[in-house]
Amino acid sequence: MPNIAIFPGSFDPITKGHESIVHRALPLFDKIIVAVGYNADKKGLFSVEERVNFIKKTFSDMPDIVVDTYDGLTVDFCKKHNAKFLLRGLRSVADFENERNLASINKELSSDLETVFMCTDIAYSHISSTVVRDVLRHNGDVTKFLPKALKGCI
Ligand code: ADP
Repeated sequence: MPNIAIFPGSFDPITKGHESIVHRALPLFDKIIVAVGYNADKKGLFSVEERVNFIKKTFSDMPDIVVDTYDGLTVDFCKKHNAKFLLRGLRSVADFENERNLASINKELSSDLETVFMCTDIAYSHISSTVVRDVLRHNGDVTKFLPKALKGCI
């Protein structure tokens, strides 16, 4: 059975931080599904379609990385895809506290699902989608925070 990991998140939009986690985790898995989780009541800056397109563009030359969307529980999405691993990134102690809680909840909901954490590359520890959105709202240049493949797209 292929070793599949789900990398769930809002990705509103994908950043160099997300891209780096996926690149570094790929040797551990046969396939990584970058899963854009959305909530019909919560509007992001970018539409789900736009987010998916940015992710597809970022990993266009990497066939083992696919993109999908889901609405609902992450554990249900993992079951649907036969994925035994959840991939998450850690930037800070605050991330760790949140992620540890999430991982515990997911473990209770689905006991054979393991969350795998990767610490951020220090060069990207300050980057978040929230910061990118804030800079964009004030017409700033976000090129430095985004994957190279998105140059000129956002
Ligand atoms: P969420 O809405 O679930 O927090 P995000 O899209 O913000 O989703 O992030 C998805 C995952 O990527 C999370 O595990 C987050 O900690 C991680 N992540 C975000 N930015 C970075 C970064 N700069 N370096 C490493 N991991 C990151």
